[in-house]
Amino acid sequence: MDDSQVLRNIASSVILTMHQIPQINHLPIEELHRIPLGKLRKDATRLHAVCRYRKGISKEQIRGPEDVRCVDLHPEATPVQWEEYAKFLLYHEFLHALGFTGHDRTFRTLEALWPNKEAIGMGASFSAHLRRRGAKWAWTCPKCAKEHLRSKRGKGRYRCRDCRVTLIDVPYQTSRPNT
Ligand SMILES: [Zn+2]
Ligand SMILES: [Zn+2]
Repeated sequence: MDDSQVLRNIASSVILTMHQIPQINHLPIEELHRIPLGKLRKDATRLHAVCRYRKGISKEQIRGPEDVRCVDLHPEATPVQWEEYAKFLLYHEFLHALGFTGHDRTFRTLEALWPNKEAIGMGASFSAHLRRRGAKWAWTCPKCAKEHLRSKRGKGRYRCRDCRVTLIDVPYQTSRPNT
């Protein structure tokens, strides 16, 4: 199964679940099937997913899925171990696609209706996963051993926030188990 098929399957499952949420099932949920799905750049770290609207349309004008150009997902979110988070990400972007463009109180209330509550909280661990993946150096505190994973050397420019000791650069092996 290629990546675009994987994305399609995840989206279908999300749309099916959305039909079962009473607070939103009056919305044009079936139209979400027509939104093209794509992938973000592999090296994106802060952005996990995005809903892109058609050019020339302001956020205030968004009426629904027909005004959406595409929804892009981080490629690291599609492997099976992140699938539950990927579904939640798509749910979030699909709410944007349905015309809830901002992250206001209404949006957060709808977002919280997603049945897998654990998935809603997976954003922080997914971010940590992305940082570990790109890490080549662990800026390490020689006193408390706390590590800050970075792609570049710290070159003695940073101190431990707790101990005020200069952090040292230790090569980071990405094969290390994620504990
Ligand atoms: Zn959003
Ligand atoms: Zn320290």
